[in-house]
Amino acid sequence: MKNPMGRLITVGALVLAPCAYAQTGAIRCGKLLDVRAGALLSDQVVVFEKGEITAMGTEGRFAIPKGITPVDLSSATCLPGLIDVHTHLTGEPTSNGYAALGISVPRETVTGVKNARLTLRAGFTAVRNVGASGFSDVAVRDGIEAGEIEGPRMIVSGPPLGITGGHCDNNLLPYEFHFKEAGVADGPWAARAKVREVIKYGATVIKVCASGGVLSKGDQPGTPQYTLEELQAIAEEAHKLGRKVAAHAHGTQSIKDAIRAGIDSIEHSSLIDDEGIALAKQHGTFLVFDIYNDDYILQQGEKAGMLPESIEKEKKIGRLQRENFRHAFQSGARMAFGTDSGVYPHGDNAKQFAKMVEWGMKPIDAIQAATINAAELLGWAKIGSLETGHFADLIAVSGDPLNDVRVLENVKFVLRGGTVYRNDFAVK
Ligand SMILES: [Zn+2]
Repeated sequence: MKNPMGRLITVGALVLAPCAYAQTGAIRCGKLLDVRAGALLSDQVVVFEKGEITAMGTEGRFAIPKGITPVDLSSATCLPGLIDVHTHLTGEPTSNGYAALGISVPRETVTGVKNARLTLRAGFTAVRNVGASGFSDVAVRDGIEAGEIEGPRMIVSGPPLGITGGHCDNNLLPYEFHFKEAGVADGPWAARAKVREVIKYGATVIKVCASGGVLSKGDQPGTPQYTLEELQAIAEEAHKLGRKVAAHAHGTQSIKDAIRAGIDSIEHSSLIDDEGIALAKQHGTFLVFDIYNDDYILQQGEKAGMLPESIEKEKKIGRLQRENFRHAFQSGARMAFGTDSGVYPHGDNAKQFAKMVEWGMKPIDAIQAATINAAELLGWAKIGSLETGHFADLIAVSGDPLNDVRVLENVKFVLRGGTVYRNDFAVK
């Protein structure tokens, strides 16, 4: 696969084609956050060409190419584009419960187009979308890569794999409708076949529901769904075909089964125990704790049409998830920033940073989870930090995010692949 620049971008066994534009330019940053060092650098200039950073450093120390006037962000703090590893761009808070049955896949795709733009403009220049009906996420990604619509770089899963009657099936209708979700597959070989099928239709990551969940009918978050044998089959098949696997797992046992199966990231991680944390560290598994959306579900969920049983489940699990987030972080587990956007309104993704700080992280830890750690989990080498040779994905805010992480809730400048999508600093 080649992108419009004809450049091949190889990530492990996968060949991906993030969008790139033939834009040349420069940005002058009053401050620039070195996310690896956790240090703010003063008076930096970033030069880019054909969508990638070609030079950067202290202003005056190197020549800006002739004819280029840098975008003036001298009053701002620049940092790499943010990454959310757990989004549902084609879903909305109102597309849960019975109301969701009336939403077609084409309509969901239109929702995805709207939310891709909102997410990019909120400063998220890359996302991993883990779960969408009918490959609507593949269509949104392809539209972005073709330059037809605005959005972040996307890794997409298509329909999530799950057991009959599980969190990733749809259990709202009675038997006579004979309805099941597209990702349902029972047994190791059926699950392997499903991995092959979603890859055939465009998935670049595999999403699997290992345990029960909050927003589904008739199951419990703590209950295992897929067996260890099924999870091993999924992980082995996906890895053989060059895809990573993200496992939805709230339950203590399912978290351990997924890690032992070789799955790459645990989503939600709510009821993880010390053994699970130790296993995650041993296997290098990333933990993704979506600890912002609990407040939204409890405050707005009923109004949005979520099932009463979902609200009850959230009441039981929300606080435990936050406590286990703090414990896992303090125990040295690797964390990537994922929010489950779509459960709460898109564009509010950055509100999770303050929760992560409230529950034990320093601002730089939370920012690293959404930059270098997330980039590593996605397997994309050219995102997550501002360096020569990386994509020109850069955002800017007013103020110091190392001091007050909430400034990230108000991103004022967004550059992706050398194209400016937002510049509130230019508005006089
Ligand atoms: Zn999710």
